[in-house]
Amino acid sequence: RLNHRGDPKMATERTLSIIKPDATRRNLTGKINAVFEDAGLKIVAQKRVQLTPAQAGAFYAVHKERPFYNDLVSFMISGPVVLQVLEGENAVAKNREVMGATDPKKAEAHTIRAQFAESIEANSVHGSDSAENAANEIRFFFAETEILP
Ligand code: UDP
Repeated sequence: RLNHRGDPKMATERTLSIIKPDATRRNLTGKINAVFEDAGLKIVAQKRVQLTPAQAGAFYAVHKERPFYNDLVSFMISGPVVLQVLEGENAVAKNREVMGATDPKKAEAHTIRAQFAESIEANSVHGSDSAENAANEIRFFFAETEILP
């Protein structure tokens, strides 16, 4: 979509972010939040929680048939996570950009995963991969009254 100047139209979006247990364990919440804020993303909701096996299993249900599913669910309940709603222009794509590739060995140098991830599994952050998934993932963890732009 283009605006009246013929430039790509910027849409204010929300996306769901999770700071994963490998990162909370290493006290990296603030450093990761600084990357989001420096990229122009606003943290409009945030809570530190211990996920239950049922929550982690349901959240990653699309990966149920993948070989890494059981290990991934175990990892996601191995310690607290920080659930966040990030808001900003093109928030979904912007967040994916600053996260970097799933495999930290393939992630670009400045990204969160290149800087902080331990492995392809313990890769420090989750971010929704589309606006539609973002809406569903935000609804999974947050009431609208918990989101304060
Ligand atoms: N994952 C894993 N092994 C793999 C691929 C993915 O353990 O071979 C984990 C990793 O934590 C990843 C999550 O599963 O972040 C979801 O995978 P997806 O392909 O959706 O990657 P993402 O969107 O998180 O980059």
